[in-house]
Amino acid sequence: MNPSALELGLAACHTCNKVSNVKTHHCPRCGTHLHPRKPDSLARCLAFGITGILAYIPANLLPIMLVTQLGTEEKSTILGGVATFWEMKAYPVAITIFIASVMIPGLKFVALGILCGAASGKIEINPRIANRMYYLTELVGRWSMVDVFVVAILVGLIQMGNLMSIEPGAAAIAFGLMVILTMLSAHAFDPKLIWDRLRQSDPNSTSP
Ligand SMILES: [Zn+2]
Repeated sequence: MNPSALELGLAACHTCNKVSNVKTHHCPRCGTHLHPRKPDSLARCLAFGITGILAYIPANLLPIMLVTQLGTEEKSTILGGVATFWEMKAYPVAITIFIASVMIPGLKFVALGILCGAASGKIEINPRIANRMYYLTELVGRWSMVDVFVVAILVGLIQMGNLMSIEPGAAAIAFGLMVILTMLSAHAFDPKLIWDRLRQSDPNSTSP
C-alpha cells in the first residue's frame, strides 16, 4: 500500500502548490501557512451553506425589480420575471433566468449537502462522482449572478426620469449574498476529505 502525502507528513501549499514538510508550518517558497487539510472544512462549508439557504428564501420571495412606469409602480420577483418573459414569448430569456437564478442555486445547495455527507461518511457515494460534483459546483459559482447582472444593466440603461425607471428590489441584495455565501461554502470544502474517507474504507486505494 502506498502511503498518502498526509501519512508522510507532507502538505502542498494552497498558494503555489509546493510540497513541503507539514512541520515547517509555512511554505518555504511563498510563506503561506501550511495545512494538510483545510481547517474546519466541513463546519465552515455547512455554516456558509445553511446561511446561503436562508438568503435563498428572501431572494425568491421579495421583489428583485421595481419598475415605475408613468407613475404606476410594479414589483417583480424572480419567478414573476420568468413568467413575464414566458408570456412575452421570450422563451430563451425566461429559461436562462430560471436555470441560472432558481435551478442552479438550488442544485448547488443539494450538491454541497451531498459532498459534506460523503466527506463525513454519512452518505455512500462513488468518490469519482463526488469529485466531479465538487469541481462543477466551484465552476458554476459566478454564473448564478446572471439575475443581478440583468437588473444592474437595466437600472443603468432605463432611467427616463418620470416616464420609466427601474430600481433593484430587496431580493437583489439577498440574491447577491446567497451567491457569495454558496461560493464561500464551496471554497471551504476540502475535496481531499472524500479521498481520506475512501482510504479509510479501502486501504489499498491511493489518496493524494
Ligand atoms: Zn507556497
